[in-house]
Amino acid sequence: QAKKSGRNQYRLFTAEIQQAAARVLQLENALRKAWERDQMTLHYQPQVDLGTGQVIGAEALLRWRHPELGQVSPAEFIPVAEDTGLILDLGEWVLRTALQQVRRWQDQGLPPLTVSVNLSPVQFRQPLLPELVQRLIKEAGIAPQLLELELTEGAAMDDPEGAIAIMDRLHDQGIRLLIDDFGTGYSSLSHLKRFQVYKLKIDQSFVRDLSEAAQDQGIVKAIIGMAQALGLRTIAEGVETEGQIEFLRTLGCDEIQGYYYSRPLPAAEFEAYLTRQSTPLPA
Ligand code: C2E
Ligand code: MG
Ligand code: MG
Ligand code: MG
Repeated sequence: QAKKSGRNQYRLFTAEIQQAAARVLQLENALRKAWERDQMTLHYQPQVDLGTGQVIGAEALLRWRHPELGQVSPAEFIPVAEDTGLILDLGEWVLRTALQQVRRWQDQGLPPLTVSVNLSPVQFRQPLLPELVQRLIKEAGIAPQLLELELTEGAAMDDPEGAIAIMDRLHDQGIRLLIDDFGTGYSSLSHLKRFQVYKLKIDQSFVRDLSEAAQDQGIVKAIIGMAQALGLRTIAEGVETEGQIEFLRTLGCDEIQGYYYSRPLPAAEFEAYLTRQSTPLPA
């Protein structure tokens, strides 16, 4: 009997693998077509300074709506783009588009806004990344300090010595680096000390239950304390409630990003959001 159910489980398991593989193949083809047909867009999510309540920047996030598959999450299609190598073209387009957007905001006379761009580990390992970034910044004609590159701990820790060298070069160009989803990876503190990072982004998994879970409060407190000791800024992501903001303020967090203020928005809606915020936000 046990043998029989074991076999059934095995069959179920292979069916699931086949299904997942078919989905990846489907996404691969659809993604390449979408890329060729300019069907990807960027949305921008406001980042608010907790001290002043002002919007000081935006994170650029890829969006893809497929005619039949509907909205596909970047969490699902980015890994596919990484496996196929498409991430290099896609990532360059994201960088160029985000930098041009910052230029447009500047031309519209808006207060200076930074843009945060997520960098895939595949992009981060490209030897010519610093040259590419420099060229795109020059093309856009903006100050390099307005670009923030979001790296994950994994991208940096896979090859810490290599990462330090790339970070040094990007830092020397005036670009700001931050560690995304901080606390979920395996950053070693001795490496963090040598990384030219400017900011830590506290992962949303620690923010979610911040008002109720003493453990998460302890973790967030420790991250902010460590960041302050290292002279780094902090931003919390996934902030949805007033209660979370109160905690983050008490703990000395610098910036907030989350649905509490706004979901990621198309550029035009982001601009409308900014102009509505003529008075500081309830930070
Ligand atoms: P991430 O960089 O950690 O981005 C934060 C994610 O949290 C985004 O999901 C954002 O929409 C979502 N979020 C923001 N505020 C809230 C909130 O208050 N509550 C909740 N529940 N979620 C919130 P999204 O846009 O689906 O992106 C998922 C991931 O895909 C990103 O995580 C990033 O790792 C990756 N990604 C997105 N765009 C790009 C890109 O242009 N390049 C690369 N390499 N990766 C990207
Ligand atoms: Mg990010
Ligand atoms: Mg994140
Ligand atoms: Mg994430």
